[in-house]
Amino acid sequence: MYCPCCQTSTLKRARLDEHLAVHACQTCEGQWVSSYDYWHWLEWQPDSGKIKPCESMDLSDPLHGSDNRRASFCPECNHLMRRAKVGHGLKFYLDRCSHCGGSWFDQGEWQVLQAHNIHDKVHLVFSEPWQSQIRQAEFNRVLEATYRSALGDEDYAQALNVRAWLEQHPHRDYILSVLNQVPPSEDESRYIPVRNSHPEPVQKSQLSQNALPKEEVNKHPVAYGHGVQPKPYDLPQPAK
Ligand SMILES: [Zn+2]
Ligand SMILES: [Zn+2]
Repeated sequence: MYCPCCQTSTLKRARLDEHLAVHACQTCEGQWVSSYDYWHWLEWQPDSGKIKPCESMDLSDPLHGSDNRRASFCPECNHLMRRAKVGHGLKFYLDRCSHCGGSWFDQGEWQVLQAHNIHDKVHLVFSEPWQSQIRQAEFNRVLEATYRSALGDEDYAQALNVRAWLEQHPHRDYILSVLNQVPPSEDESRYIPVRNSHPEPVQKSQLSQNALPKEEVNKHPVAYGHGVQPKPYDLPQPAK
């Protein structure tokens, strides 16, 4: 079995830990983990089935593996390997063969994954939910950079304070409608205090249902108050 990175060196059997057998390259120090060896090792790991990105990671100071950045072929079945970004603060990609399920780790990558508690989630790195989280995190970073650049750090911090206050406010939508100068939504309108009790307003749909046929109104315009000028009130005249 040849190294997918060096392509000339032969991989030698080695061990990453007590339960994990690998094929290691002595030239580039990369490691190949077959699907069988990975799943066998995973059975010994606690909580191995959960996506649990390490919360203590400092995203502002990402660690780097020694990513070889080249398309590689599987040393076991010779299919082109798929690359996937690890994310969650780590800037390198992993290579995995979709055909046989084996994974390649460049020098030091396994140890970095282990330090961040992702080494037992390698199979999840290639899943859509994992990749979707990474895309969302990248989008949020770009958005924040845009806001900071437009507002400056101080105003951006102030905007975050306002947002935090607004998010827990019971009349959040109503305040937003004030800020946006648009009428409040129906849900919020019910909070507006009413001074006098009024009958229920007639709905537009009701008006159209109760409307008289047009021909009927045209025949008797006066009866229906059409075309008639309103008269001034007959005020009582003072006694002469
Ligand atoms: Zn190599
Ligand atoms: Zn393969």
